[in-house]
Amino acid sequence: MSNRMESGREGMRFTDEFRDPAKAKSLVSAIRAVLDEIGATAGNPVHVMEICGGHTHAIFRYGIDRMLGPGIEFLHGPGCPVCVLPMSRVDDCLEIAEREEVIFATFGDAMRVPGTRGSLADAKARGADVRMVYSPLDALELARRNPDREVVFFGLGFETTMPSTALTVLQAAREGIGNFSLFCNHILVPPPIRALLQDPDMRIDGFIGPGHVSMVTGIHIYDFIAEEFGRPVTVSGFEPIDLMQSVLMVLEDIRDGTPRIRNQYARVVPEHGNRAALAAIDRVFTPREAFDWRGLGEIDRSGVKIRPEFAPWDAEEKFGVGYAAGKSSGREPEGCMCGEVVKGMMKPTECPMFGTLCTPENPMGALMVSSEGACAAYHLYAGLRPEEVVS
Ligand code: SF4
Repeated sequence: MSNRMESGREGMRFTDEFRDPAKAKSLVSAIRAVLDEIGATAGNPVHVMEICGGHTHAIFRYGIDRMLGPGIEFLHGPGCPVCVLPMSRVDDCLEIAEREEVIFATFGDAMRVPGTRGSLADAKARGADVRMVYSPLDALELARRNPDREVVFFGLGFETTMPSTALTVLQAAREGIGNFSLFCNHILVPPPIRALLQDPDMRIDGFIGPGHVSMVTGIHIYDFIAEEFGRPVTVSGFEPIDLMQSVLMVLEDIRDGTPRIRNQYARVVPEHGNRAALAAIDRVFTPREAFDWRGLGEIDRSGVKIRPEFAPWDAEEKFGVGYAAGKSSGREPEGCMCGEVVKGMMKPTECPMFGTLCTPENPMGALMVSSEGACAAYHLYAGLRPEEVVS
């Protein structure tokens, strides 16, 4: 493969070039050839985990898994922030949102995630003032316009969304807006990947690294995966040709026994990340001792909290909920296999509730709610054929 193709930057410029059927066919042949060289078969496939839920959806949307045959098995990692949010944190949201003085502002994909007392949408139906916003700055504007109310923004997401939340807290502090606060559920990618690699039951041969997270962090947050665990990572874009190039790059490294951190998405991802965004994150947030993940349990230093100097804008401190109240974990619904799916140890279709008790219209678990959830991807794209997908 040429450097032009590897970078994904100079070789192709327009969206349709990233969906070119001729390029896709040639990549499929190259990938199958490397799988043959590795000796991968249906009974002994190579296991590649895509960390990001956006990649899971792209793989299914474009039928990439079916094009590549049974020699490779994709494992769907924990990179969908809504999917790994434990029910206890949804309960905390409701506890805040149901206060009379509160306007609770959230992104739309978190509205229907079930907690033990229902979802934010249920709370809204019961009378809570829950509003959908498109950015944390929208929530800050709500606070400016409603000085007699407490506006709480539900901060959720990986390193991708942390800079905009951090900048909003800084703006609130600068303007002295005291009726705005953040319910912080921001989490970090490396700790759960380390936890998965330390699990003796897991078999992961290589990773497709998340594109949007890496745009903020750069690619060196994954160095430990190659150096300590001997697994390759290729940070990938989201178009079908991006993903096929990335799969090929990971498989080449597996074949050659040369674990490396490579950047297929160099047209967007700078090697060392976005320094201004990282500085904003560091200014406002500090790691929590531990954070609870749906299906993975508590993982050390896997989430962040607001630094003490910004405590007036910390909803947990202001309302005495969540970790500030000594609560951390909660139970999952009976029969829910979300945890096993998040760990890549079970396919969504193996969950007894898939497509029956649990559907996108009536989700039991977060993986069916989120637009990036693995169960939603299986449900949405199950009927597509490979030949339909890259034309
Ligand atoms: S089908 Fe529903 S309950 Fe089962 S793992 Fe998926 S989201 Fe969870």
